[in-house]
Amino acid sequence: MSPTEQPRVLVVEDEPAQREVLAYNLEAEGFHVEKAENGEEALLLVDEEAPDVIVLDWMLPNVSGIEICRQLKTRSETRNVPIIMLSARSEEIDRVRGLETGADDYVVKPYSVAELMARIRAQLRRTRPSSVGEKLTFENIVLDAETHKVFRDEKLLKLGPTEFRLLTTFMEKPGRVWSREQLLDRVWGRDIYVDTRTVDVHIGRLRKALCQHGGNDPVRTVRGAGYALG
Ligand code: CA
Repeated sequence: MSPTEQPRVLVVEDEPAQREVLAYNLEAEGFHVEKAENGEEALLLVDEEAPDVIVLDWMLPNVSGIEICRQLKTRSETRNVPIIMLSARSEEIDRVRGLETGADDYVVKPYSVAELMARIRAQLRRTRPSSVGEKLTFENIVLDAETHKVFRDEKLLKLGPTEFRLLTTFMEKPGRVWSREQLLDRVWGRDIYVDTRTVDVHIGRLRKALCQHGGNDPVRTVRGAGYALG
């Protein structure tokens, strides 16, 4: 699976056994998993990895999960990343709710893997719809992540795999400006060395593909910043 289609989950849990089991299960479900064993590490990884969902344990050494959650929800760059809080007891969950930490969902330990997966998918449906097979729409363009087909004005577009992944990234957040580095990371993956000029080449191909039956070029070049859709 390519980096675009693979949703990224950050697991923050200090208990090694619990962390590994959870990571193992998430990877088996097709998620890309990053692991942090404390809050400080979690905050660093959130900036580096831009996860799609964070599974955050309440009981962590030094800085608690609640504090991490509060910090992430007050920063504009991380505010929209869904956070699922894990807690050992339901009374703690009640407290989290009462504290208004901004967590998007709460799961009590011991939880079933199936339940947690369902909660994660529910969050992704909101923030990364293509990763759970939802259709994306932008103006007259429709992208079907399940069948890998793109239509503009109901006409099928011919699109290469890289252009498809670029378009998916754009359509999940219309209007958002992506730098070439961010696009490289999302579309090609950070483990592969690709020159940033490659991004420009594929943006050119995407523009051509989107206009193959006519219509305006919906991809916007933002000087000194990168590209955006719309
Ligand atoms: Ca813990």
